[in-house]
Amino acid sequence: MAIATVNPTTEETLKIFTPLTAEEIEKKLHLAETTFQQYRLTSFAHRREKLLKAGEILENNARKWAEIITLEMGKPIKQALAEIKKCALVCRYYAENAESFLKPKTIASDASYSVINYQPLGIILAVMPWNFPFWQVLRFATPALMAGNVGLLKHASNVPQCANAIASIFLEAGFPEGVFQSLLITSNQVEGVLRDKRVKAVTLTGSELAGRKVASVAGDELKKSVLELGGSDPFIVTKSANIEEAVKVAVTARMLNNGQSCIAAKRFILEDAIAPKFTELLLQEYQKLKIGNPFDETVDIGPLATANILEDIVQQVDETIAKGAKVLIGGKPLEGKGYFYPPTILTDIPVNSPGMNEEFFAPVALIFTVKNIEEAIILANSTNFGLGASIWTNNQTEIDLAVRDIEAGSVFINGMVKSDPRLPFGGIKRSGYGRELSMEGMLEFMNIKTVWQK
Ligand code: NAP
Repeated sequence: MAIATVNPTTEETLKIFTPLTAEEIEKKLHLAETTFQQYRLTSFAHRREKLLKAGEILENNARKWAEIITLEMGKPIKQALAEIKKCALVCRYYAENAESFLKPKTIASDASYSVINYQPLGIILAVMPWNFPFWQVLRFATPALMAGNVGLLKHASNVPQCANAIASIFLEAGFPEGVFQSLLITSNQVEGVLRDKRVKAVTLTGSELAGRKVASVAGDELKKSVLELGGSDPFIVTKSANIEEAVKVAVTARMLNNGQSCIAAKRFILEDAIAPKFTELLLQEYQKLKIGNPFDETVDIGPLATANILEDIVQQVDETIAKGAKVLIGGKPLEGKGYFYPPTILTDIPVNSPGMNEEFFAPVALIFTVKNIEEAIILANSTNFGLGASIWTNNQTEIDLAVRDIEAGSVFINGMVKSDPRLPFGGIKRSGYGRELSMEGMLEFMNIKTVWQK
């Protein structure tokens, strides 16, 4: 895939970037390593001041950054603005909390003095996706930089201007150039960078396939990796739930980011007593959604990010319908320019169809009906994924069962799955391993050093 800005609304190629040469990569690695040797010795106060400044630069120019996002990947401009605000929030969160998270901990042992110290590892490579092109990067970079690590970003090939903009923000905030650099490289060049001995660890957010490739290289090199991969999150609604509220949130949970979110509610698992009412209300809400130019403030759904994403969803929906699913609304891409796919609802999903087993990365809701909470949980757990889960109920026994038995990195009760700097984020099964955000996320790329003194 060429490194380029292609406007998904018009399909125009606006700018093509040449991937870095081996010499250019070497220069950046050298700069990162020499910078790390100085930067690791800086104080929390020093890093804090710069990260707070980065937050200000994000917030004060939110419109400018949001427009780059919308131009390159097509999310509605109001959502791009919200993404930038959240990035400023995570800057403040780690600026304010890093020092207490990494405070040495004295432990009683057979030593006269024993303590756990948290030290940075060095260069961390981040391989990032296009769907939240600022947020995904900032949620990696803010704890890493506060901890004294330095970052190299290999961003997705369709968001090079976002990648360069983020590097420019850290530079303007006062971080030395080598603390955070964008590497405009293709996915084939990732292995060479990761095998370089100066690179100490890797974090990847993206597809299962990319995760496998990168993690196998990291494993071969015995380097730490964190993987944030795909999901097919269940959204379970039982008869005790507030149905109207559940439907309202269901629309956002599925439609946010034009349906291209790892933690989007993808499978709606409904108790049979309320399934007809929920489905009817969902259909009514879907009919109200406005699809169109994402720069229009009143638009709810823009184009999908790339021609490939559109091709994938067309194939998945067609195959699911061919195997017997019913279409309540949508089901076919829009005609004309742009990678537009309309809000779609499928019911009666056949067992052996993509709708049952695969991640649908587009505004397509898959509806399943079950008899009770036990069946709902079995169905929720029936995919290879285990990212998040949302359950809507006012029955405490159902809540307890869901919390205990759903195989996922998070369970949200009467709310949609979302990330929050204060709470750990990540998955199990083929949704990946390791955590981001909160203190747990920060500790992933630290040397947790034991010191023992007689
Ligand atoms: P992707 O194709 O896997 O790309 C993600 C990143 O990996 C890009 O930078 C890509 O570079 C790179 N990449 C792809 N193949 C690679 C390889 N063989 N070796 C090294 N790097 C490689 O995923 P995507 O289509 O951008 O994103 C969608 C997926 O990400 C979905 O499955 C979604 O659920 C998941 N996701 C997960 C989370 C989470 O937090 N769990 C968050 C967001 C998205 P190129 O662009 O150059 O190919």
